[in-house]
Amino acid sequence: MKLSNLFKGIRLPRPPAAAPPVDLPAPERVYLPLRQHRGAVAEAQVKPGDQVAIGQVVGASEEFESAAVQATVSGVVESIVQTVDPAGQKVPTVVIKNDGADTWVADTAEALADPAGAKASRPSRLLKRLRESGLVRAQVEGRPLHVDLSPPMAPQSYLYMTGIPVVRPVDTLIVNAVDPDPPVCPNLSCLTQVGEELAVGVAALARISGAKRVILALPAGGDASALAAMAGQHEWETASVSQTAYPFATDNLLVSALTGRQVPTPYGEPKDVGVVLMPLISALDVGRVLISGRPVIDRVFTVAGEVKNPQTFRVRLGTPIRDVIEAAGGGPSRPGKIIVGGPMMGLAIFDPATPVTRSTEGVLVQSAGNVVSYADHPCIHCGRCVAACPVNLIPSELGKLCEFRMYEEAAEMNLMNCIECGCCAYVCPAKRPMVHFLRHGKTEVLAGRME
Ligand code: SF4
Ligand code: SF4
Repeated sequence: MKLSNLFKGIRLPRPPAAAPPVDLPAPERVYLPLRQHRGAVAEAQVKPGDQVAIGQVVGASEEFESAAVQATVSGVVESIVQTVDPAGQKVPTVVIKNDGADTWVADTAEALADPAGAKASRPSRLLKRLRESGLVRAQVEGRPLHVDLSPPMAPQSYLYMTGIPVVRPVDTLIVNAVDPDPPVCPNLSCLTQVGEELAVGVAALARISGAKRVILALPAGGDASALAAMAGQHEWETASVSQTAYPFATDNLLVSALTGRQVPTPYGEPKDVGVVLMPLISALDVGRVLISGRPVIDRVFTVAGEVKNPQTFRVRLGTPIRDVIEAAGGGPSRPGKIIVGGPMMGLAIFDPATPVTRSTEGVLVQSAGNVVSYADHPCIHCGRCVAACPVNLIPSELGKLCEFRMYEEAAEMNLMNCIECGCCAYVCPAKRPMVHFLRHGKTEVLAGRME
């Protein structure tokens, strides 16, 4: 399947060819937030002074939308402190001093040796294993994987034109090897990491979700020959997706391009139209968990931007981001911003000591001179944002309505359909803070409707 890019949005520079991830040694201390995803905070299962082994559960919760947190080094629990996560939320965090012994817990789950084993397993058993492993979808504020893969309790979205709830059985699994927000490219770095882990991961994801059709979204111009060959062996379809047409590789737009199904807005998700979409690195993690019987204790993490050697690492979860930036040669002498996620949809962090978590994929480092300043300058009515908006909104009008607190009027102009891609802010010559206006407006609309 070959896709042409018949959509709006913007063009970003092609990311450089990525090498396989470089293993980074475990740090002296790891900082493990007890919530590394959207959802409930886990409760600490350890106390200061406890000796822990790798894989030991240090945080767990009965809540469904919560993921277990395991120790990623062996050593002693030093403290449980409040830290600020990449989304700016305070969260209790277990600090473990590494003893350097890398001792694993004795009891690990039974291993699933091959794709046939995954295909023969009960979906509920596979799902339970993923839940126990604490896997989280790799994106800022991602959800635990067992939540992503469970059937919706109730329709998440509605077709407003008819008022009919939209839910259909999942029949398609898309494994996305294209990074939606380059140059943060952990998926690109894993293009050559194909083999048993991916085969088992995809087989398990298809078994859990019920998908009969598997589509691999491959980066156009990237070295995806090994993945394409593997797709041939397993009867997976492939699609070549542009790496430079932004935000083409984001979930809902990709689903629409690959299946022709329109994810309903607002609040819709691929599951509503019978599709599960999983990043390549998450599919690999699923395979690793099932083959090894152990939780995943590291994350493929890209350091891009103004560092000496931009590259992708395999980092122990809980490593301070500052340490990973140092491993990439260090940041600029006049630091500006560290953005978790990519330049378009990422979030700036306040503290470089913020740890790498299951939902972080990488950072973009900017020097002070390269940080774009936005201000509430007046709109000059050039129309560039309208031409760029990939979901056909009128950002200039929405921005003004939100700026002047006319939130309900903005909602009537489909404010809630905004996917916060940032294309309007990127092209705006007046440098208006469009995403800030729109994001704030959406929060106000939701708050108003919950009163
Ligand atoms: S209005 Fe929303 S969806 Fe449209 S370009 Fe701006 S941020 Fe993207
Ligand atoms: S791009 Fe900026 S200046 Fe131009 S119409 Fe949109 S908001 Fe106004």
